[in-house]
Amino acid sequence: PLRISDASVEFRHVEFRYPSGEETVLPDLDVRIPAGQTVAMVGATGSGKSTIAKLLARFYDPVSGVVAINGVDLRDIPETDLRAAIAMVTQESFLFSGSVADNIALGRPSASRADVEAAAKAIGAHEFISKLPDGYDSEVNKRGCRLSAGQRQLVALARVLLADPAIVILDEATSSMDIATERTVQRALRTVLSGRTALIIAHRLSTVLTADRVLVIERGRIVEDGRPSDL
Ligand code: ATP
Ligand code: MG
Repeated sequence: PLRISDASVEFRHVEFRYPSGEETVLPDLDVRIPAGQTVAMVGATGSGKSTIAKLLARFYDPVSGVVAINGVDLRDIPETDLRAAIAMVTQESFLFSGSVADNIALGRPSASRADVEAAAKAIGAHEFISKLPDGYDSEVNKRGCRLSAGQRQLVALARVLLADPAIVILDEATSSMDIATERTVQRALRTVLSGRTALIIAHRLSTVLTADRVLVIERGRIVEDGRPSDL
């Protein structure tokens, strides 16, 4: 598939309502994210943050307006190219049944064990994985191998690093983490987001403060748009 690098993202007067819903969730979203920028979205529950993320991942199409990558309407980008260009990390840091290694390699099935370990090391996950009962071969959903929220997020971030997408969409974990894990996750985030375009639904102040730009969403509208220091 086409490797999209340096991806800019655009929402051009996007109007959206869920197929099942009556209310307009996004009345007129209009914003451009230059390639490489890390954008944090904050806003009350129900304000539309996840909806914006889902539109970028093309789970839905707008009612009117355009969502575009590098100026190309998502509807004109082949599905395989789009999937290669975008990685989405959800709050649950979705892990599949299978080994830790399988979960990391999901973004690039051809990856060797050495590739998987290199990604885990870069993310800072190698240490805890090595201590699991069967190391990289540990089954993630098995008893005795229950990963903490922070550890799941690290595995998901290692997967993103290996998949090497131009765009990262992240719904940050809300669950509490101990300070050491939190620090590791923040460091991992910086590694993963460097050189990529990122849209983060931010739940942590540290994430907001290190973003290039913060969008405050209220009832589907951007009510503030600026550097963290401006807010
Ligand atoms: P939170 O901080 O709680 O995650 P959010 O900002 O992500 O909230 P969204 O999930 O984008 O908010 O929801 C925006 C609006 O869209 C809400 O009114 C919600 O009820 C509605 N909504 C979300 N998902 C659906 C759906 N699948 N079908 C119909 N309406 C939905
Ligand atoms: Mg949400």
